[in-house]
Amino acid sequence: MSQATCDRCQAPLVKDASYCDGCGQRSRAAIRRVRLAVRIEILFFGAIALMVLAFAVSQIHR
Ligand SMILES: [Zn+2]
Repeated sequence: MSQATCDRCQAPLVKDASYCDGCGQRSRAAIRRVRLAVRIEILFFGAIALMVLAFAVSQIHR
């Protein structure tokens, strides 16, 4: 489902637009995409941190 008008200024949005032409407000779909990207980044960082931690622990308990 695509958003027809801007949340901030109510201007009509181009189909699948990421930003409003009038005020620059992000569309809801774009906000969702950004949230998803941030979540993936956090997961990725967590996985690396976990690997480093596991490696460190394995070195201590040798
Ligand atoms: Zn707007």
